[in-house]
Amino acid sequence: MARKTIFGKCHLCLEEKDLNFEHVPPKCAFNKETKYKITPFLDLMQTQDPFNLKVKGRLEQGGIGVNAFCTNCNNFLGRKYVNAYLSWVKIAATAIGQGNYIGHDYSAFNQYPNKLLKQVISMFLAINTPEFSETNYDLSRFVLDPDTTELKEKYQIYTYLNTKGKTRYIPMTMVGNLKEGSSSFCTEITFPPCGFVLCLNPTTKSNELLRNITHFKSTEPNKKYNVDIKINKLETHLPFPLDYRTKEEIKAAINKGNE
Ligand SMILES: [Zn+2]
Repeated sequence: MARKTIFGKCHLCLEEKDLNFEHVPPKCAFNKETKYKITPFLDLMQTQDPFNLKVKGRLEQGGIGVNAFCTNCNNFLGRKYVNAYLSWVKIAATAIGQGNYIGHDYSAFNQYPNKLLKQVISMFLAINTPEFSETNYDLSRFVLDPDTTELKEKYQIYTYLNTKGKTRYIPMTMVGNLKEGSSSFCTEITFPPCGFVLCLNPTTKSNELLRNITHFKSTEPNKKYNVDIKINKLETHLPFPLDYRTKEEIKAAINKGNE
């Protein structure tokens, strides 16, 4: 099914052009036949039972995505980074069947970590507004230069594995930490088997469950690496960034609130 193009500002090069439908994540990364409904946020806030929400939104077919990039940028991403992403996600898909939920040993051989990171950042640019890309042009600059290993410290990227819960496409949002009295901005994409978070100036302990992969930026873009890290498998039942509570934990919190 052909998707319509729309006219607007490309989220990557910022030129005004026809924008193609961009699959997020790439179509080949299990995002081809996805059928999904758009859940109105208000419905979710008012429901008595957040796990059995009757969704009123449109049923979409043919994969999740957004009109975000011009043809040039779309082709550029496809040529340069999508294979690196696919290679990573395929290993994640086999890893999710094994091991613990916390501290999962994740070994991925022959990876291009720098390219993977660039693909992930392009996905965040896609789901956010062009204004976000303008304000954070360093992100576009990093993605647009296949050879660069430079990205400002204020941008931190995290990952986790995911099988339980719902997909997340959350644009840049302020997340407060009431305990510490601190807050930070982050945007999150969850599409099994992977979840990714991009934070702006995160506080030191933004979320201990996430695995920071920002250092992937410093790897040589055209060199293959064997990546050995620990990753957690986290659940995403509610559409709130950085909320990885299990259903039981959420139910307990609801019951406590009703007492
Ligand atoms: Zn463009």
